[in-house]
Amino acid sequence: MKNSMSAQDLLHFDKTHLWHPYTSIEEPLPVYSVASASSSTLTLTDGRQLVDGMSSWWAAIHGYNNPVLNRALVEQVSRVSHVMFGGLTHEPAVELGKILLQLVPKSLNRIFYCDSGSVAIEVAMKMAMQYMHALGQPQKKRFVTIRGGYHGDTFHGMSVCDPVNGMHGLYAGVLPEYFFADRPTTSFFASWDAADFVGMRRLVEENQQNICAIILEPIVQGAGGMYFYHPQYLREVRALCDEYGLLLIADEIATGFGRTGKLFACEHAGIEPDILCLGKAITGGYMSFAATLATEEVGRVISSAAPGVFMHGPTFMGNPLACSVAKASLQLLIENDWQTQVEGLAKGLEEGLAPCLDLDCVAEVRVLGGIGVVELHAPLSSQGMVQIQAAFVEAGIWVRPFGRLVYLMPPYIMSKEELAFLTAAVFKVLATGDY
Ligand SMILES: *Cc1c(COP(=O)(O)O)cnc(C)c1O
Repeated sequence: MKNSMSAQDLLHFDKTHLWHPYTSIEEPLPVYSVASASSSTLTLTDGRQLVDGMSSWWAAIHGYNNPVLNRALVEQVSRVSHVMFGGLTHEPAVELGKILLQLVPKSLNRIFYCDSGSVAIEVAMKMAMQYMHALGQPQKKRFVTIRGGYHGDTFHGMSVCDPVNGMHGLYAGVLPEYFFADRPTTSFFASWDAADFVGMRRLVEENQQNICAIILEPIVQGAGGMYFYHPQYLREVRALCDEYGLLLIADEIATGFGRTGKLFACEHAGIEPDILCLGKAITGGYMSFAATLATEEVGRVISSAAPGVFMHGPTFMGNPLACSVAKASLQLLIENDWQTQVEGLAKGLEEGLAPCLDLDCVAEVRVLGGIGVVELHAPLSSQGMVQIQAAFVEAGIWVRPFGRLVYLMPPYIMSKEELAFLTAAVFKVLATGDY
């Protein structure tokens, strides 16, 4: 296919008119133009090829241009691309539901399809509020979460993001104000310190008459700092929710579908949430799609009292294209033996990133499943960010650091050789730059 625009024209239009995530139009950060992508490789418009260390933000777990996922979409396009979900259903929605139920804990058997992760969070939070309302406790409509979290960019998602990173001050008076417990200090790899839970317990005890749910990212706090905390913390949260009749909302939008080495991160603690949010990898990175799952009990309680219905229903709910590619992606997850794939990633990340520990600029290296993090001593300045980004591209890899974090979460299908190349390039860039 002829590419009618030169790379230069394309980047010029982009710079002049297109907004990118978290950027200024006055001082836009450089962007790179992708012409195509296949397996673990991005090909830029200027012909350069980059090994992808990001899976497009946790999503493209089966790699790009995957023939199975391509086929699922193409076949569905010729049947029906979209149809309203109000009063209508279709095979892709049902087939996806069946496979989801095979994967999640048995108790979570009510599925609400959403158009993005942030919407899945909105839906989960509305479910928790409606649940308490239906139980005759309408005053229980506030949430507890932990600092350092990330739950999306819509207003309710933001309200439970870290208040500092999320710049809550900017929206003061409009953004709902919820309760924040300190981030657990015991890391995943350390031995549990019971003092770590005191703050959360106190917060809940003091405010339980107004709380409907605790919402958190189990085990791995992603965009809020790539922090791995101790499974015992999660078990304590579950027990506390049971003690006070609160719902537990697990945001597994980033951690779900094997990324942490378990199919769902809650499994590290052996607990089950009342409401589970899934997204990102659910379609293998092909389309924006997500799901909020609830227990039968949550569903029944919501439906048992006025208004008697769950008050949500987006236009593109249950989109057949998204459902069919999600179904294919989850089938592939099982067929490809995700556990072996992710174990391979963990080994490659550990071996490949270990040398970074010897660098002066590096404070810590940590790996959990298919997530590898190199934490620097100092946060990157915006100039440093531009420089390091360019150096990574120069080295033939796509990695996008933030703050003090250079992190990798490669596609599950990445070969050993590509992974070795990726980690060696990270080391080389950090070793030669001034960060
Ligand atoms: C990305 C993310 C979201 C938001 O999902 P979007 O699809 O970007 O709206 C919510 N929670 C977590 C943990 C995420 O990583």
